[in-house]
Amino acid sequence: MELDARCPCGTGLGYGDCCGPLHSATASAPTAERLMRSRYSAFSVGDVFYLLRSWHPATRSRSLELDDDTRWLWLEIVRTEAGGERDEEGVVEFRAKYRVDAPGGRSSGVQHEVSRFSRVDGAWVYVDGVA
Ligand SMILES: [Zn+2]
Repeated sequence: MELDARCPCGTGLGYGDCCGPLHSATASAPTAERLMRSRYSAFSVGDVFYLLRSWHPATRSRSLELDDDTRWLWLEIVRTEAGGERDEEGVVEFRAKYRVDAPGGRSSGVQHEVSRFSRVDGAWVYVDGVA
């Protein structure tokens, strides 16, 4: 993704000033919400490596395949609980709108999830989520 294009996560910032540096590991997320946003963006740009790297080793999938037909349209952070710069754990509730352009037709939906995050060696990681 172009660094000056708007970041998919919806902050209004350019990708290079938002989730780009997290994806390229030149910065780390200070809060759980920041990590959540960067994971949404990673789904959007298809960065499987980042999605696995930012996933807790205890709950991480061995592999992850993204569906090429799915387009992520927007992200809304509904609520956060802890997950701050001095916290070790956090919760982020979000809604993410998507569209699927499959050969058989188009559909869309909203993924509504409450995700849990914690720190591993100081870095925020995704633990699990309840849809
Ligand atoms: Zn972003």
